[in-house]
Amino acid sequence: MLTTADASRAIRDAIRPLAAEVVSFESAIGRVLRQPVVAERDQPPFDRVMMDGIAIRFSEFAEGKRSFAVQSTQHAGDERQTLNVGHAIEIMTGASLPKGADCIVPVERIVVNEHGAHVEANYEANERQFIHACGSDHTKGTELLASGKRVTAADIAVIASAGLADVEVSRDPTIRVISTGNELVPAGEPIADHQIRMSNGPAVVALLADNGFTDTGHEHIADEPETLKVRIGEHLAAADVVVLSGGVSMGKADYVPEVLASLGVTVLFHGISQRPGRPMWFGTGPDGQAVFALPGNPVSTLVCCRQYVVPALRQMQGDTTGGTAFASLTEPVEFPPKLTCFLPVKVVSNTAGQLLAMPIRTNTSGDFAALSKTDGYIELPLEESEFPAGTTAVLHRWRL
Ligand code: AMP
Ligand code: MG
Repeated sequence: MLTTADASRAIRDAIRPLAAEVVSFESAIGRVLRQPVVAERDQPPFDRVMMDGIAIRFSEFAEGKRSFAVQSTQHAGDERQTLNVGHAIEIMTGASLPKGADCIVPVERIVVNEHGAHVEANYEANERQFIHACGSDHTKGTELLASGKRVTAADIAVIASAGLADVEVSRDPTIRVISTGNELVPAGEPIADHQIRMSNGPAVVALLADNGFTDTGHEHIADEPETLKVRIGEHLAAADVVVLSGGVSMGKADYVPEVLASLGVTVLFHGISQRPGRPMWFGTGPDGQAVFALPGNPVSTLVCCRQYVVPALRQMQGDTTGGTAFASLTEPVEFPPKLTCFLPVKVVSNTAGQLLAMPIRTNTSGDFAALSKTDGYIELPLEESEFPAGTTAVLHRWRL
């Protein structure tokens, strides 16, 4: 059986990038850049005044001059003025440094009356103080954002400052989520004793939305091969990615693998040496669609969705950000099976600033209520079976 690393690699090799599209920069938040963003101008684009006050010649101050005739006022956005010898210009934060001036004295350190601006007696000034020098943050042409970066609020400021009204980002993947199972009844409908509330589909849609993927649709289909074939076929034709839950184990009503095969979906693997989620199935459709068939047990479904589907969606977008997170176990864990263990945890921190993973036991892989107490899960390698308190493990948060 495939290891978790083999499964991730097989998915990575099968994923094709989505096309790029142009959007207005204001709507680029959360999208993945498909172009670099380059500085339009030096930053700051001029010697920028950093304090409200007066602009003077430092040489005059150094020679002992403390009173200056006020020549004029220059606000942010005003054209750059020229400072006359022996004078001061009243200046505001954000203004361009007047020609001839090389020192700003803050307004708190001066008194202005009808005779001019007078600097406080023991005030010590320095040459070029409170001047944010032209090009000191970055120069024109500097790459500020790389292609492959997911756009944050700070990036929106960078894109705006680069003067770009539109940017190229990845198209959002179209995703169809399908719940299979005769026993499933959606919330809001009457339910019999032998039936189960359908929770996986809505949870998968929510987990995807939480990770920024909102072009989703969900349908519940009964365990009936002909119906499954027609309905899955329709979703396959409309989507970049199909995520199924249930029907991939060895039961008599587990029709998903054979139905997918009949629709021309090529299986790349069926089964991963992991718990939960051992029966997971993955393949590619006739038009390169990624098809994930996740086991129906609710803990398995969510773990497999986060572990395999979310990274694949990010790869499709060309997202190059994100690294590996780690946390230390708060208590010992024993896990004898030769399987990778994805252990749901609550993440806390200690006073040393370390991330700690507190195991939250799920009764079975069907015990989804326990997941509400968790922030994600840690990955315990298959080679080992005893994990003492303090063991450092890879942490996967529900929201990547
Ligand atoms: P399956 O993988 O189809 O054999 O399902 C395994 C278990 O998960 C069964 O107990 C199902 O009733 C349950 N299950 C499957 N799909 C869902 C779903 N969408 N919502 C809640 N439970 C489900
Ligand atoms: Mg089923």
